[in-house]
Amino acid sequence: MTVTPVVIVGAGPVGLLLAGELGRAGVPVVVVERLAEAMTESRASQLSTLTAELLHERGLGALLAEAGHESRAHFAGLGFELSGLDSAYPGNWKVPQYRTEAVLGEYARRWGATVLRGHELTGLTAGSDHVVCQLRGPAGRQRLDAGFVVGCDGSDSTVRRLWDFPVSAAAATRELLRADVTGLRIRDRRFERWPGGLAVAATRAGVTRVMVQVAGQPVPARMGRPEFGAVVRAWAAVTGEDLSGGTPVWLDAFDNSRGQVGTYRRGRVLLAGDAAHWHLPIGGQALNVGLHDAVNLGWKLAATVRGWAAPGLLDSYHDERHPVAARVLEHVTAQETLLLGGAEVESLRAILAELVGLRPVRDHLAETTANLGDRSGPPGPSPIGRRATTLRLRTDSGPLPLADTEPVIVRLGPDAHGPHHSTVRTVRARCDGVPPLDATALLLRPDGYIAWAGDDEEGLEQAIEKLLWVEGRKENARL
Ligand SMILES: Cc1cc2nc3c(=O)[nH]c(=O)nc-3n(C[C@H](O)[C@H](O)[C@H](O)COP(=O)(O)OP(=O)(O)OC[C@H]3O[C@@H](n4cnc5c(N)ncnc54)[C@H](O)[C@@H]3O)c2cc1C
Repeated sequence: MTVTPVVIVGAGPVGLLLAGELGRAGVPVVVVERLAEAMTESRASQLSTLTAELLHERGLGALLAEAGHESRAHFAGLGFELSGLDSAYPGNWKVPQYRTEAVLGEYARRWGATVLRGHELTGLTAGSDHVVCQLRGPAGRQRLDAGFVVGCDGSDSTVRRLWDFPVSAAAATRELLRADVTGLRIRDRRFERWPGGLAVAATRAGVTRVMVQVAGQPVPARMGRPEFGAVVRAWAAVTGEDLSGGTPVWLDAFDNSRGQVGTYRRGRVLLAGDAAHWHLPIGGQALNVGLHDAVNLGWKLAATVRGWAAPGLLDSYHDERHPVAARVLEHVTAQETLLLGGAEVESLRAILAELVGLRPVRDHLAETTANLGDRSGPPGPSPIGRRATTLRLRTDSGPLPLADTEPVIVRLGPDAHGPHHSTVRTVRARCDGVPPLDATALLLRPDGYIAWAGDDEEGLEQAIEKLLWVEGRKENARL
């Protein structure tokens, strides 16, 4: 019996990035994807500052070069600047999701992942030391045995359902309609609140994207896309304007259903991206948070498959990523209330507008929006748990690359020295960040987060043992 070390279900952006991360770390991966052809919709078109950092670190900066850059973001329609962020890539990047998927698909294939399009996962059962995946593909039914399965199969996840992940969810109470329409002459508007609902319009190159929500309207049971007539009626009900002379080129409906799984791992099956957390796409967080899930999970799963992960390392994926998405869900729910609520939220909006005028509030919102506030450990002033980007680490040959596939010891200072480590690669670097770091060594995780900083060898050793199972490492090392 051949067991594929990792089977990823879903070739959306999250599954493809994860496949690339695993492939880069030397783990054979098969991605199964229901769609025979790549998706062609713009969908989640906003990439955040942290995503930009991660893409650059992986040599995928060309995607950002073709994107539109915006230096501003908003919270419930109240705008603020991102340009002051402590990152080489402050801002948001606008690029259609199908382009992000194309670039990540290329990344996955470059690192050896096999992508099986036109293959749908229909069954999952536990084997003795593996998981049996039942697939339906062009050649009929097929079985694939996997060491681990990762469900990256979106908000309606089959993996989540088949493997019985516990879910905490709220059903939809509001629906929004969207359309791209040609031949319209209406003015642009960002998050315009009317007594009857919300209206948004933006015209680019002769195509107007409208989005509308009618207050108090029940959510219909929908099979497929809305009719253009429904968009015309909703727009007229909210704004009094007539869109019926336009020609629709794309129609979409989405709602405020939201949820999150209680655990991101059950044995040999894990979830990432929309399969683990889903919500109304306000603020453009879902895709970004899913991509960060993939980066967090990639090296931990690779270490597990390759036999050198410390006990508990794979479970730390849930511990670190569940709170991040839970917080995003809170932010999205708050924004939804402030944007789609009725007259009762006006006073709250007015106070929030005052608060957004204060520098620390703006800075906090900017850092949160950029995903730079996400730590891998408990909050506090220590650099441990933060990404190392702000330290501006440099070796003699240039900036220290942050996207390794294994942990790295960084010896700091002009005369950096320290004992050679038998199981972890060591590099020497200086720290150009401000304020200077009060440490002579760092332990860097492959996702660029600082696992440890200090000057005692015993502390370093303990930190290494939280990531690496040293005996397994000696047997399976690739230094
Ligand atoms: C119609 C639509 C419009 C959206 N619009 C916006 C937006 O405007 N702004 C925004 O921020 N976000 C939007 N989103 C959300 C955003 O697209 C997601 O957050 C993002 O795509 C999540 O990526 P993912 O890889 O986790 O999941 P997905 O992109 O959903 O990818 C999941 C993949 O799994 C595949 N799959 C599912 N089930 C199976 C199975 N059983 N077997 C094999 N393959 C399977 C699917 O075909 C799909 O390719 C939208 C989502 C949808 C569906």
